[in-house]
Amino acid sequence: MQDLVVQRPEGLYCPPGDFFIDPWRPVARAVITHAHADHARIGNGHYLAAAAAEGVLRARLGDIDLQLLGYGEAITHHGVRLSLHPAGHVLGSAQVRLEHGGRVWVASGDYKVAPDPTCAPFEPVRCEVFITESTFGLPIYRWRPDAELFASVNDWWARNVLAGRASVLGCYSFGKAQRILAGVDPTIGPVLVHGAVQPLNDAYRAAGVALPDTRIATEVQDRSELRRALVLCPPSAMASPWMRRFGDAGTAFASGWMQLRGARRRGGYDRGFVLSDHADWPGLLGAIAATGAPRVIVTHGGSAAMVRYLSEQGLAAESFDTEYGDDRIEADQASETPQVGP
Ligand SMILES: [Zn+2]
Repeated sequence: MQDLVVQRPEGLYCPPGDFFIDPWRPVARAVITHAHADHARIGNGHYLAAAAAEGVLRARLGDIDLQLLGYGEAITHHGVRLSLHPAGHVLGSAQVRLEHGGRVWVASGDYKVAPDPTCAPFEPVRCEVFITESTFGLPIYRWRPDAELFASVNDWWARNVLAGRASVLGCYSFGKAQRILAGVDPTIGPVLVHGAVQPLNDAYRAAGVALPDTRIATEVQDRSELRRALVLCPPSAMASPWMRRFGDAGTAFASGWMQLRGARRRGGYDRGFVLSDHADWPGLLGAIAATGAPRVIVTHGGSAAMVRYLSEQGLAAESFDTEYGDDRIEADQASETPQVGP
């Protein structure tokens, strides 16, 4: 029997349904797992995504032909029953469940299993074949609880306030920035953002996610205010003249890659906060086990190590060669090839 999802030059393809999942080349019909730029690209004819993703997708892709599905709601297309289930990665992120001829496949997109107040929690979905990401698919990746992480961010910020300098924290504009905003203590000082972050904040607020007030850093003239501020920006901004307004600022970067000591050193940041919107090694293994799938296809990240590990556990494991996470679109990847000099 033919597989429900196969690899094509344009992306992951469902032959009976005649549609793609997160294609990296333009196609007629695209199911989009989430609005990160390596998964949601411009140029597709028709888009299908989770209703919760509408604001962020439109903020990223503008006026697209977009069909929305609530989580758990199903449609049938060419005999394939399709539904979307929370992936816990960013606002509106979804796993794609496909059912056809009595078989069930699930494509995860990016996911994490740790709680995140800015999006719906990951939902395990039983299936026969699970297509899983593996961005942090090595046993060295183990995340600390958020409470611990945010206590150290707050402490770093409060110390900088005492020293009279701004705290500039590099992070991806979509997802990571909002998770940080929801986690920090806004009573420490003003919270400012780069202009690239604010439209995403607005989309989150419009979707009902509570975030502290944020102002765009370039609109603040008061130097004493800048010196007390926590400033969130994409990593590229930290290497640009935009940084000059903060003078002698404390700098940090928030990413899962910060678990690697060398990543922080190469990036030239004062601090590295280990914060990822992807599952860590135990999270990946737990999510895979929860599907009950005897066959697993690994899409990106540490796929060779994950395939080997799963095979040793008795699962039928293989990989798809995708174009996800292969560029600097996600800041998690950006720290591997830093754009920021010391
Ligand atoms: Zn993503």
